Amino acid sequence: MKIAVVSGKGGTGKTTVAASLADLTSGPLILADCDVDAANFGLVFPAKDTTTIPYAGREVACICANICTGCGACEDVCRFSAVHVNEWAAEVDPLSCEGCGTCTLVCPTDAVTLKKMISGEIITGTTEKGPLVSAKLFAGSGNSGRMVHEVKRRAQTPDLDSPVIIDGPPGIGCPLIATVGGVDAVLMVTEPGISAVHDLKRLVTVCKGLHLRMFAVINRYDLSKELDREIEKLCREEGIPIVGRIPFDEHVVTAVSSCIPVTRISCPAAEALCSMKEILFSKL
Ligand code: SF4
Ligand code: SF4
Repeated sequence: MKIAVVSGKGGTGKTTVAASLADLTSGPLILADCDVDAANFGLVFPAKDTTTIPYAGREVACICANICTGCGACEDVCRFSAVHVNEWAAEVDPLSCEGCGTCTLVCPTDAVTLKKMISGEIITGTTEKGPLVSAKLFAGSGNSGRMVHEVKRRAQTPDLDSPVIIDGPPGIGCPLIATVGGVDAVLMVTEPGISAVHDLKRLVTVCKGLHLRMFAVINRYDLSKELDREIEKLCREEGIPIVGRIPFDEHVVTAVSSCIPVTRISCPAAEALCSMKEILFSKL
């Protein structure tokens, strides 16, 4: 069983819910942190015996200055303005290069080659709940969707059949799509805020398009009755079961600042999360 905990926007309490779900689930688990731009599952479940391997995600054009004649053909065809001819030869700005390879097709001297660029690290380790796979995308690197794919691939090794709990990325872009592809259920964490409701609608549209089984949990539901009702209405119309309603609770702040699952503190939010877990698992 693979459950992805996602949200249309950041700051809704996604990691709090994912960590609580993991904390409340007995037996060995596999944890995957697919928020590769800002992974923090490991803060709540610190990993031991970690292994870090470089991740080469994207290709970048490299120009051999000894062969380049400075003709400028590559500069003319680059749609991303990533290559410029200086006094001696062409030079590529690796941050602008999208690795499309067009310049390699027009270079008369074969001076351009595409080379894999290290864009981050994949980190595996062992936590109290089981293996944790996460990643660190280097600043300025793109293609985090591919990196998410690699995190998931490593978290789903065939010899491990434990349930997988995925802490997903915010948003609805490539990393989200890479996260939710092939999971058994998506748990959408939202809150009664105007932007959160707006982003929930977009998230539902994406998940529906992928034919995913969706569940929702409303965090801090008591902050706005009106928007809470709007989320209820949206979920009802879309046939999405609301499996939990977590009240605003300052103990959550205490748990986050202490890097522990809030379910280890006796408080209203923890009770709501326990109930959410029971309801969710009864429906899976
Ligand atoms: S690979 Fe594409 S983006 Fe990169 S320099 Fe060549 S043409 Fe430009
Ligand atoms: S097309 Fe080739 S030879 Fe011409 S400037 Fe670019 S790299 Fe140099």
